[in-house]
Amino acid sequence: MSRVWNFSAGPAVLPAEVLEQVKDELLDWHGAGCGVMEMSHRGKEFTSIIEAAEADLRELLGIPANYRVLFLQGGATQQFAQIPINLLPAGKSADYLVTGSWSKKAVKEAQRVVAGTANVRVAGSTEASGFTRFLDAGEIDLDPNAAYLHLCTNETIHGVEIDCARLPATAVPIVADLSSHILSRPVDVSKYALIYAGAQKNVGPSGVTLVIVREDLLGRAPATIPTVMDYAVMAENGSMLNTPPTFAIYVSGLVFQWLKRQGGLAEMEKINAHKAELLYACIDGSEGFYRNPVRVADRSRMNVPFTLARSELDADFLAEAKAAGLVSLKGHKSVGGMRASIYNAMPTDGVRELVAFMDDFRKRKA
Ligand code: PMP
Repeated sequence: MSRVWNFSAGPAVLPAEVLEQVKDELLDWHGAGCGVMEMSHRGKEFTSIIEAAEADLRELLGIPANYRVLFLQGGATQQFAQIPINLLPAGKSADYLVTGSWSKKAVKEAQRVVAGTANVRVAGSTEASGFTRFLDAGEIDLDPNAAYLHLCTNETIHGVEIDCARLPATAVPIVADLSSHILSRPVDVSKYALIYAGAQKNVGPSGVTLVIVREDLLGRAPATIPTVMDYAVMAENGSMLNTPPTFAIYVSGLVFQWLKRQGGLAEMEKINAHKAELLYACIDGSEGFYRNPVRVADRSRMNVPFTLARSELDADFLAEAKAAGLVSLKGHKSVGGMRASIYNAMPTDGVRELVAFMDDFRKRKA
């Protein structure tokens, strides 16, 4: 078996140790006589799996007791709709910050689901400058009466990231899309009213979406919304109103255990900061051969987009990288160029190999 260095933005690389454990337990989980995929979600075995996953996630993120953890389906994209359906009542307005493709999509979907009943307002956007930085405080125009403020703290396509220390100062509930950097660094959950994240980048397989929601936000949805879309009902039923994505929850739980073995999120942050430094140093030190357009203070540690000054070399770069075992480096079609996603499960050695390849490629082609 040979595994590549996988820089995919998601679904993304998972820790090899976790995959080995899944392999070992695939046909017979802990003597149950069947695998997790085959067992009832209501049985004691799966109940122990989801309870351990929640407890480990709470420990890793330091989730306060007045927050509920939900394991939902539909991806982060479903949250783009589920958030306004639950939290934006008729006649009210919600603020959105637009700092990349994903927060822009969130606005569009919110506008669609509340059209004609409530207002979705852009309280700041960096689109005119090409989504190459986060908003400065003076560019954010907040409505103090907004039902909530929505933002994306790591824009996966544009590679723009902020941490919780840089959230806008507001008394309005903050709702945030952490899909592509959750668990990569410590986070003060109490600063948010609701955090959501699709699993397939830094958590586990696709199919499960994490929602961490403060209890006072539950029960605000109109009675006419679909039951599976109602946060309060999902919370009351321990995410098991209907069949949850059991296998994805199980693998995510193993990733949480792996993260605890690595020393938790403070340790992951050190490793991730170092990996990002190696890659940005290679780009910035390339005398313009490679270029990342994001303002330095706002650069993502997880998703590093870069272009080659001579875009005619793009195809060679990708082909030679692939031959060297470095895959999924093609940038998102909306921005072009390259993107290296270096999530928790990408070892520092993988980043070192990428940097060595990039340095060598530049020397040969410059
Ligand atoms: N938000 C962000 C920041 C993302 O990166 C993505 C997926 N790339 C989404 C939302 C959409 O997620 P999903 O595919 O799980 O719906």
